[in-house]
Amino acid sequence: MPLTNCVRCGLLFSRTNRPVCPECIRKEEENFERAVEWLRNNPRQTIQAMSEATGIEKGDILKWVREKRIVLADASDLLRCKKCGSPIAGGSFCDHCKLGLTQAVSETLKEMSHEQGLQPLTEKRGMHYRPFERGRGARA
Ligand SMILES: [Zn+2]
Ligand SMILES: [Zn+2]
Repeated sequence: MPLTNCVRCGLLFSRTNRPVCPECIRKEEENFERAVEWLRNNPRQTIQAMSEATGIEKGDILKWVREKRIVLADASDLLRCKKCGSPIAGGSFCDHCKLGLTQAVSETLKEMSHEQGLQPLTEKRGMHYRPFERGRGARA
């Protein structure tokens, strides 16, 4: 069984599909239940207030907010697109920037294939289409 260090407490444990040890997962779930319970009695609170009242680390609370497991009043102030800063419901980027990022990736891929001396896809497709169009024209 491969061993790995827990990213939270540093304990050596048998690797699972999570980077934290079972003990820390258990603690986090306990904290989470405590947070939900507290939120039930104190709706529309801030991360700061929850952290102070429950003793749970702000980072943990923010993670749950990002995972949409809990909803807090100041979540919209904390969750902002990493690129343009507009408020988002979850994740790291707004839909607009996510789209831009995807485009940037495909541009990079195009440049890479060009550098490697490969023909861009569009040129290849054009070469295939021309004889096909001519053949169809002759038949008609
Ligand atoms: Zn741990
Ligand atoms: Zn954005």
